[in-house]
Amino acid sequence: MSHIQVLDQITIDKIAAGEVIERPASIVKELAENAMDAGASAVAVEIQEGGISFIRVTDNGSGISREDVPNAFLRHSTSKIRSVEDLSHISSLGFRGEALSSIAAVTKVELVTKTKDEPFGTRYVIEGGKEQSLEDTGAPDGTTFLIRQLFYNVPARRKFLKTPMTEAGHIQDLLMRLALSHPEVSFQFVNNGQEKLRTSGNGKLKDVIYSIYGREAASNLIDMDYEKEGVRIAGYLGRPSVSRGNRNFENFFVNGRYVKSAMISKAVEDAYKDFMMQHKFPFLVLHFYINGEDIDVNVHPTKMELRFQKQQQVYNLVYEGVHRTLLEPELIPVVKAPE
Ligand code: ADP
Ligand code: MG
Repeated sequence: MSHIQVLDQITIDKIAAGEVIERPASIVKELAENAMDAGASAVAVEIQEGGISFIRVTDNGSGISREDVPNAFLRHSTSKIRSVEDLSHISSLGFRGEALSSIAAVTKVELVTKTKDEPFGTRYVIEGGKEQSLEDTGAPDGTTFLIRQLFYNVPARRKFLKTPMTEAGHIQDLLMRLALSHPEVSFQFVNNGQEKLRTSGNGKLKDVIYSIYGREAASNLIDMDYEKEGVRIAGYLGRPSVSRGNRNFENFFVNGRYVKSAMISKAVEDAYKDFMMQHKFPFLVLHFYINGEDIDVNVHPTKMELRFQKQQQVYNLVYEGVHRTLLEPELIPVVKAPE
C-alpha cells in the first residue's frame, strides 16, 4: 500500500490559509484591497471583538457576477492576471488569487454582491471551505463580506490570537495606511459600534493626514515632490521639530502599496540626521512611483516587503530628495499666519 497521498482541497486550503491569514487584520487587508481593486470609492469596515468573531467589509465597487461568485473562492483564481508576464506591470493590489479561498477555509463567510448589469444581487455562504448556499437577494451595487469566527476550525491557530484590543489596533493601523495610500477612497472604520476612523475620499493626502494624525501633525508638514532617474517621490515630510519616538510614523507607499523597507527607512533617517536629535524618528508620508519592472512585489504572500532592482540607486535618490527638501524651509523664514 502506498503511504503518499495528495491532500484534499479543503486541507490544502487550510494549510495555505496559514500563510495569508495570520490574524483578523490580514482578512481586513485582503478584503479592503479587493474592494479597491474593484474600483470602490468608499470602503467601510466594521468589527466586533477585534475582528475575531465579526468583520464586515462593504464596498461600492464593481461587484461579482453570479457565475463568478463560486469561482472567486477557488484557490489561485483571479481576474487580475493571466500569466507571469503580467507581474511585471501589475497595477492591482491583489493577483495571487489566494485570499478568498484562504479566508473561506478558516472562517464562516457570507457574501452579498451585485454588479450594475444584474437585476438581482447574489448571496453566497461558505463555511470552512464548504459551500452552503447560493441565492438571489436584493442588494445595492457593490460587495459586502461578512466574516465570522476566525479559526473556528483551527484551534491551534486561534490560540495565537491576541486580545480583541490588540487585534483591533492592528486593523486600525492597517486602515490608516490604506487611507494614506489612497486619498481618493473614503474609508470608515467602526469598532464595537464606535467610529474610529473616517476619511473623506476627496483625494487630498494632507486631509487624510489631518483625519488620522490630527491638527498638530497636519500643520507641521513640508511638501515634497522630487523626481529623478524615472523615480518620483511625493508626499509630506514632518518638520524635524515634531519628531517621534519610533519608526511607526514612517509611512512609505510604492505604486500605491504600503511597504516596509529597511533600506528606505535608513535613507530617510540618514537624511534627517542633520536636522533631528539622535534616537528620534521622523513623521512622514511618502509615495514612490517606480517603474514596475524595477521592483519585485512578489517576495512574500502578504506583499508587504518588496525588492528593488537597484538598491543603491533608490537609497541615493531617497536620501538626496529628503535632504534637499528639508533644507528648503531653512532658507525661507516661517511666517505665522495671523490668527
Ligand atoms: P486576487 O485579489 O489575488 O485576484 P482574491 O482571492 O482576493 O484574489 O479574489 C478573487 C477574485 O474575486 C478577484 O480576482 C476578483 O475578481 C473577485 N473579487 C474579490 N473581492 C471582490 C470585491 N470586493 N469586488 C469585486 N470583485 C471581487
Ligand atoms: Mg485579493
